[in-house]
Amino acid sequence: MKITELKIRTFGDPVLRRKAYFIKGVTDSHRETLSHMAELMYSHSGIGLAGPQVGESEALIVVDIGTGLYKLANPRVIKKSGRRTMEEGCLSIPGVCLNVKRAGRVLISAQDESGKPVNIEAEDLLASVFQHEIDHLKGKLIVDYASFFDKLKIKKALKALEEKSRDEELPQSERKSCKLQL
Ligand code: ZN
Repeated sequence: MKITELKIRTFGDPVLRRKAYFIKGVTDSHRETLSHMAELMYSHSGIGLAGPQVGESEALIVVDIGTGLYKLANPRVIKKSGRRTMEEGCLSIPGVCLNVKRAGRVLISAQDESGKPVNIEAEDLLASVFQHEIDHLKGKLIVDYASFFDKLKIKKALKALEEKSRDEELPQSERKSCKLQL
């Protein structure tokens, strides 16, 4: 796929449910993908984005909660503690906001864009965002955390998204309904 064709995939697109591949060596092509992912994230007012969300089944994520941009390959949680619940939206599931309970502190192990191993300690918002993006790499989505009642509430929205998933990208106006989009 040509890199300029990267766009955000929405609920119903099977790529979002596929497990992303481990990257053996970070190449120029991965760096290019990471740059385009960052651009897409910023242009959609997001604070995180994962490879599968742009149709790439590769273990790549970008994160920026306003404190600096992380571009990472093969991120995984190696330690976690505490609990926190945050209302999360997902750029791939516009119109849906859900309370998601996650670890409050995490230690992330990954490679940076030069391929160098890095460990990142994260807490609060940043911890939630990393866990959300790492979930994407496993094919897991916020809807998987929905309670029984949440599921009833979002059923219609999900169905509409599934029917639209093969169509053009959704307009910006439909993406603004949740404060934090990841
Ligand atoms: Zn997401």
